[in-house]
Amino acid sequence: MPTPVGTPRERCLRPPHAAWPRHTTKGWETMSIGTIPRFPLATLPTPLHEAHRLREALGGPERCPRILIKRDDLTGLALGGNKARKLEFLIADALRKGATAVITTGAVQSNHARMTAAAARLAGLRCSLVLTTSVEDPPIQGNLLLDHLLQADVHLVPAPPDKSLAVDAAVDETIARVAADLESRGERPYVIPVGGSSGVGALGYVAGTLELVGQLANAGEAPTRLYYASGSRGTQAGLVLGAKIYSAPYQVYGIAVSGGGADKDARALENVAEAAAMLGVPPQVTESDLITDEGYIGEGYGIPTPECLEAIRLLAQTEAIFLDPSYTGKAMAGLIDHVRRGVIGPDETVVFLHTGGVPAIFAHGTRLLE
Ligand SMILES: *Cc1c(COP(=O)(O)O)cnc(C)c1O
Repeated sequence: MPTPVGTPRERCLRPPHAAWPRHTTKGWETMSIGTIPRFPLATLPTPLHEAHRLREALGGPERCPRILIKRDDLTGLALGGNKARKLEFLIADALRKGATAVITTGAVQSNHARMTAAAARLAGLRCSLVLTTSVEDPPIQGNLLLDHLLQADVHLVPAPPDKSLAVDAAVDETIARVAADLESRGERPYVIPVGGSSGVGALGYVAGTLELVGQLANAGEAPTRLYYASGSRGTQAGLVLGAKIYSAPYQVYGIAVSGGGADKDARALENVAEAAAMLGVPPQVTESDLITDEGYIGEGYGIPTPECLEAIRLLAQTEAIFLDPSYTGKAMAGLIDHVRRGVIGPDETVVFLHTGGVPAIFAHGTRLLE
């Protein structure tokens, strides 16, 4: 992270990052992603690592493509993860709008909630978290432990029975109550949607794509696919829009970790349209660009499948990289299955975007060894 200069509010209003060029795409004069206010939170660029040992374990060059792992688990903000990229834009937006507090929501082991609480600390904002739980007294472990260490104001509500990530009425009511309470005390709350998935949040992975496309070009790589774990779809919105704007060589291939495909497609397209408008480019993304494979969800969000557990162990034992049981384990299970079934060939190169989530390992304990 660059050395911070000035107050948080001054910092997010600073001039655009000098290293980021203005982009002109297919004749459209675009507003560079570098001109949009951004509050520095992440340590960038994250490494791009070739997983040689994993390739060997999956059959070697005869059977397995080359796999490049983009280490967004190493974004640096409070144990890392993809939300740091979104939060750079979301927190800047909150500060510009004069917010004094942020409110967000997610499951009790939400990585997004933990990273929002951390970002709020760095920006001098209060943070309230509305977290859904399927048990009455969830163990104070993993992300929830970190939320408390960060002294976020935690509100627990019962999880909707289908374990989807969908925000339900009880969550909306609690957010409204928390917001009203903050306002009555003279605070100005800014509500960040679940997963940080909004047009502003999607800018994080437009910028992330610019970074990755640059790394690939420097390394002379042209991967055919990018695999990643898809939840609330803000990452997808940024990745697909970024892939169009910066002419990425790869197809963006999401492995779903929860259901609700049709509604989420609509939301992703909304996020794309908003982000594109902020950048001054046409949305140029259609439903056919939103590839989300729902074949690896298993019983539901947050419930690891046997293949997910296998993927977690395999990555630990080959690359000493930890995956998480809710997101990246399932995404890697999808990639491994595609290798084994020959959906992707040994002559290809693919990118696996490691979106983080590692603290949730500690809320599962030895069940991960089963
Ligand atoms: C939030 C999250 C995702 C999914 O990102 P969305 O933008 O919600 O789709 C993937 N992996 C991890 C570890 C996450 O925390």
